[in-house]
Amino acid sequence: MVKSLSILGSTGSIGRQTVAVAEHLGMRVAALAGGKKIDLLEEQARRLHPKLVSVFDEDAASKLKTVLADTDIKVLPGMEGLIEAAVFDEADCVVTAVSGSVGLKPTLAAIEQKKRIALANKETLVCAGTLVMKHAKECGAEIVPVDSEHAAIFQCLMGRQKGELSKILLTGSGGPFRGRKREELENVTPQQAVSHPNWNMGAKISVDSATMMNKGLEFIEAMHLFGVTPDDIQVVVHPQSVIHSMVELVDGTVIAQLGVPDMGIPIQFALTYPDRCPSMFEKLEFSKLKALTFEEPDFESTPCLKLAMDCARKGGTAACIMSAANEVAVHMFLRGELGYNRIYDAAADAVEAIPSVETSDLDEIIAADTAAREYVKEHF
Ligand code: MG
Repeated sequence: MVKSLSILGSTGSIGRQTVAVAEHLGMRVAALAGGKKIDLLEEQARRLHPKLVSVFDEDAASKLKTVLADTDIKVLPGMEGLIEAAVFDEADCVVTAVSGSVGLKPTLAAIEQKKRIALANKETLVCAGTLVMKHAKECGAEIVPVDSEHAAIFQCLMGRQKGELSKILLTGSGGPFRGRKREELENVTPQQAVSHPNWNMGAKISVDSATMMNKGLEFIEAMHLFGVTPDDIQVVVHPQSVIHSMVELVDGTVIAQLGVPDMGIPIQFALTYPDRCPSMFEKLEFSKLKALTFEEPDFESTPCLKLAMDCARKGGTAACIMSAANEVAVHMFLRGELGYNRIYDAAADAVEAIPSVETSDLDEIIAADTAAREYVKEHF
C-alpha cells in the first residue's frame, strides 16, 4: 500500500476527493500541485502540511508564497514546479489529476522515478499512450487507473491471462443529452452541458461526457492501458452508471465491476492496490436498483465518439490532435465563445487539417498538440 502521496491537481474534483481519501486512509500527502484556486490550496497546505506546493500559474504562485510565508512549505511555480511535485522524493505514488495535456511531462518524470502513477489525467495516454506505456514498462513503474471505467476493467482483468480476454465492454451513461438529436442540441448552454445525471465532475470532463468525447478518450486510453486494438473494445451505453465496465472472456463469461457512482472508490483502490480497505463511501443497495439497462451508442447524435474511434484506428498523432483541439473548443464553449455543436466541428476539422505522424517522440507529440490548439484558436 502507498505510504506517501503527491497530488497533481489537488484543487480539482479528483484532487479534492483524493485529499479526502488520503485523510481517511491516514496517508501522508507530501506534495501538492494546483492551479489558480489559491484559497483552497492554502487551506489544503495548512491542513496536510506537505513539504512542497507547486502552483502552475506564476502570479498565483507568488501570492501563495506570501500567504504561506509563516510556514516552512516550499512553493514553486510553473511546469518546473509541477515536475518537482511529480518526482518529489518522499512520495511513492503520484496522483495525476490535472486537466489537459499539461499532465504529460510530469507523468513521464514520475514514471522515470518509478513512482506508482494513479492515473486520472486522460490526455496523458490519449496523446502519448505508446510512449508512456513503453516508458513505464522500461522503468518498472506501475500505472493504476483512477478513471472509473479503466479502474473497473483493471479489476476485472486482475488474475487473468492475456489469452483469456475476448473483448472489453466500455460502459458510459450517455450523458445529459442521451436520446436527443444533434440538431436539438444547437443552443445547449454550458450550464446544461455540465449537469451530469450520475457523476459529479469538473467542467471540462462534464462537457466531454455530454458530447461523449469523454467515452472516445476513454476508448483510446483503454487501448493503451490494456494493450488491445480498437476491435477489442465495444462501447455500451448504460444510463444508470452502476456497472463501471466489463470484460468478456473467450469462453463467453462476462465479468463486471459494479458500485455506486462515486469517484472516491476507484481513487481509494488506486492508492491501496493490491490491498482493499474499508471506505467511507456508500454501498450499492440492490433492492433499491430499479433496472440496469443497456443501449448501443448513437453515433449520429454523438459524432465525437465516432471521431475518437476513427482517430484510434488511424494511430499516430491523430488522437493527440483531436484531444488538444477538443480541449480548446470545450474551454471556448464554457466561456460562451463557441456553440455546443461546434466543439465537434473544431475537433474534426483539426484532425482533417493537420497531418497525423507516426511517432513516439515527445517533442513531435507536443508539436502536434500545439498545432491543433493554434488551429482551433485561428479558425473558430
Ligand atoms: Mg470515466
